[in-house]
Amino acid sequence: MNEEKIREKEESKAPVSFIEQFIIDDLKAEKNNGRIHTRFPPEPNGYLHIGHAKAICLDFGMAQKYGGKCNLRFDDTNPVKEEVEYIDSIKEDIHWLGFDWEDREFYASDYFGRLYGFAVDLIKRGLAYVDDQPAEVISAQKGTPGQSGIKSPYRSRDIAESLDLFERMNRGEFDEGSRVLRAKIDMTSPNMHMRDPIIYRIIKAAHHRTGETWKVYPMYDFAHGQSDYFEGITHSLCTLEFEVHRPLYDWLIDQLKTDDYRPRQIEFNRLNLTYTMMSKRRLLELVQEGKVSGWDDPRMPTLCGLRRRGYTPRSIRRFIDLIGYTKVEAINDVSLLEHAVREDLNINTPRVFGVLNPMKIIISNYPEEKLENVTLINNPEDESMGTREVPFSREVYIEQEDFMENPPHKFFRLAPGTEVRLKGAYIIKCTGVRKNENTGVVEEVYCTYDPDTRSGGNASEKKVKGTLHWVSAQHAIDAEVRLYDRLFNHEDPAGQKDKDYRQFLNPDSLRILKGCKLEPSMRSVRPLDKFQFQRLGYFCVDYDSTESNLVFNRTVSLKDTWAKVKK
Ligand code: ATP
Ligand code: MG
Repeated sequence: MNEEKIREKEESKAPVSFIEQFIIDDLKAEKNNGRIHTRFPPEPNGYLHIGHAKAICLDFGMAQKYGGKCNLRFDDTNPVKEEVEYIDSIKEDIHWLGFDWEDREFYASDYFGRLYGFAVDLIKRGLAYVDDQPAEVISAQKGTPGQSGIKSPYRSRDIAESLDLFERMNRGEFDEGSRVLRAKIDMTSPNMHMRDPIIYRIIKAAHHRTGETWKVYPMYDFAHGQSDYFEGITHSLCTLEFEVHRPLYDWLIDQLKTDDYRPRQIEFNRLNLTYTMMSKRRLLELVQEGKVSGWDDPRMPTLCGLRRRGYTPRSIRRFIDLIGYTKVEAINDVSLLEHAVREDLNINTPRVFGVLNPMKIIISNYPEEKLENVTLINNPEDESMGTREVPFSREVYIEQEDFMENPPHKFFRLAPGTEVRLKGAYIIKCTGVRKNENTGVVEEVYCTYDPDTRSGGNASEKKVKGTLHWVSAQHAIDAEVRLYDRLFNHEDPAGQKDKDYRQFLNPDSLRILKGCKLEPSMRSVRPLDKFQFQRLGYFCVDYDSTESNLVFNRTVSLKDTWAKVKK
């Protein structure tokens, strides 16, 4: 299905998205004097996830492609939930994805003064009022989409009184929740967001940038559109849930604007992925409750988690490209993301030999002291990646599952009496096994080798059906390998009515293997180095890895084993 989708896209020569078409049209019409200016507006209340990457690729990508600019703007309107740690991580992740905001790092809090001034202006013009009712009452009076709301008794309050109260709200004279400022728009509007929305509330928490200056803070809906306006944003790209907010943003800009310029908001569908969830609030719960090791746990859909897992920025951008931008909400298949990373790592990572579950092979006719170096190609897809020497000796490890004492029909790997090739080296034949006396489990496998079959040699190129990866026992480096599976065992864990997403956590999402054996060229690897362990998958060095204790994360297996299971 993935391949199909990709081919479709490539054959169609990727028609531009509807958003890109709008931008092209605006450019042609010389709107905004031909300026393209976008922004990426994260709220610093968590780490970025792959959903954000979809917005980032669009915001920065469109600016890049059409010679425009893209601002980074932190929507820091709620000091209670926001932290500097998040700001730093967001910047790191955007850079990692390959984008840059140059000197345009802004904060909604930069505009608190202007927003406050605008709010005061609205009050003076009779377009906003202080409401003394509790939040529940205000909410109940809002009515339903089919039924008009009820006007607040404070709606007709004196302008002077509202002005005075709003100022005192900001001086800290009133408790949180005791009063709010509301825009006076239309309690009968079919759009609930137009029914006198709350635009300011009292919060008595220190803000990470403005400290104790403010006791009232603008609602997101009051800050967002105006911030776009203040920054001269031409195309304000956001997700579909904001479509219903657009009339409110437009109304506010109508009150604010002084000439023809206004930001154009265009909405697109969110990125959702199967077997995970995209809500920062819920991801934070997973972290706080210790369900994962942190925001960068390699099972998390966060960008730092994906990075630690071994995903590359290129593979993520490619995936975003493949899914595109539409007006229809959908859940994207995580196997498409896995396809994108395989495609990238296949071309760009060196192949190495690693054995996850070792079984010792003793080649009884190979001299004990003998050592040969065999030459292996680092990446058959890319000759420029060269070759390396790997030591071969009398005792090697192969994968446990590559040997069977009583194999079924058509088992082309090693079994008593059968022959396989050790890749790059010799053909060996199994002559017997040694079992544990108590358990009966095979502990060593005995083989003989045929000296005339060395790969690349000019002697007989005898053919066998199976070729195995291996590691010379005396040269092997031990490593820990962490295998990951889906974090959830439900396609849409957060979308199940009346069910807590936690009940869908996959208890087997992490399996740790110790005593894995790697070829000696892996001795000096560094965190985030990436490899293909031949026949097994793609692996990435973890941050926990040290010279004496190598730790790898499996990014993804070589093939989509899940697709097979489904069929
Ligand atoms: P969450 O629901 O995870 O808390 P959010 O929308 O509150 O996300 P913001 O920090 O406000 O997070 O998001 C910044 C930008 O990223 C917004 O423009 C938002 O539309 C976009 N964005 C967030 N989640 C997604 C997603 N899943 N797909 C595409 N864009 C997204
Ligand atoms: Mg948001």
